[in-house]
Amino acid sequence: MEWLMIGRAGIALVVASLASGASVARPSESAPVIAITFDDLPAHGALPPGQTREGIIRAIAATLKAERVPAFGFLNGGVERDDPDAARAIAAWRRAGLPIGNHGYTHANLDTVGAAAFTTDIVTNEAPLIAAMGTRADWHWFRYPFLAEGRSPAAQNQIRATLRDRGYRIAAVTMGFADYAWNAPYAACLAKGNRAAVAQLEQGFLNDARTAALASRANATAQVGRDIPYVLLMHVGALDARMLPRLIALYRSMGFRFTTLARAQADPFYAGAMDLSRPGPSPALANQPQLTGPPADLCG
Ligand SMILES: [Zn+2]
Repeated sequence: MEWLMIGRAGIALVVASLASGASVARPSESAPVIAITFDDLPAHGALPPGQTREGIIRAIAATLKAERVPAFGFLNGGVERDDPDAARAIAAWRRAGLPIGNHGYTHANLDTVGAAAFTTDIVTNEAPLIAAMGTRADWHWFRYPFLAEGRSPAAQNQIRATLRDRGYRIAAVTMGFADYAWNAPYAACLAKGNRAAVAQLEQGFLNDARTAALASRANATAQVGRDIPYVLLMHVGALDARMLPRLIALYRSMGFRFTTLARAQADPFYAGAMDLSRPGPSPALANQPQLTGPPADLCG
C-alpha cells in the first residue's frame, strides 16, 4: 500500500492501476485526498441473516486490497470478546495488513461515564491492541467513541493529557455521512428479502456519501481556504462492507484519491490532534452536511 503513496509522482500509480486492472483515474498533485477509517472493530451494527463479523471484515479488507486503498481500524477490545467470530474478525483485519488503533475497551461515552472511567476504558483496551498489533507497530491512535471529547473543559483536558502521556494522537474526523444509520435497515430489509428496499438503501447511502464529500470540501474551502486531507469516518457494518467498492468508485469519480491516516494528519490543519499539549477539542470542520438518512420504518 505504501508504494501507492509514492504514486503522487504519477508513474507508480499508473503502473499499479494497470497491474490491478482497476480503472483508476490518474490523479493530479492537486487532487483532494481521503484517509478512510473504520470504527467499532470487531462488531458494528445489526448482523444480517447468515452473515458473520469475520465475513464483513474479510469483505472490507478484500475491497481495500483490490482497490489499493489504505485504511485504519479502531478497536473495542471488550465488545463481543467471548465470541470466536469477533476474534476471527480482528485476525482477518490484521492478516490483511491493516492497522488498528484504540476506540476504548467498551465504547464508553466520555460525556456519560466521566473522565476516570473513560481513562480506564482507554487503558484496558491496550492489552488487546498489543495482542493484535504487537509492541512495535503504530497503534497509538485514539478515536473518541461518539466523537465525544468532553463537555467540560476539565474532562476534555484531563483525557487529552492522559492520551498525550501515553503517546497517542487523536484520529480526527473531517468527513462522515452517518454510515452507521444504514446498517440496521439493511439487515431488516435483507431478512425480509425486500430487494427493492435494499436497492433504495444502497442508492441513499451513496447519495449521502456524495453530499458529505461535497460539504467537507466546501467547508474546508470556507474555513481553511483550501482542501485539507480528509479523514473519513466509517464503521465495520454489513452495508458498509457491501457498498465499499461502489463508494470508492464514487469518490474516485469525484476526483478524490486515497492516503493513510498518518499522511492525512501530517497536514498542519490537524496539529491539534497530533500535539495533545495544544488545547482541544480536535480540529474539525464547522458545518455538518445536510444528510437524508435511511427512510424511517423501512422494513420495520
Ligand atoms: Zn464507535
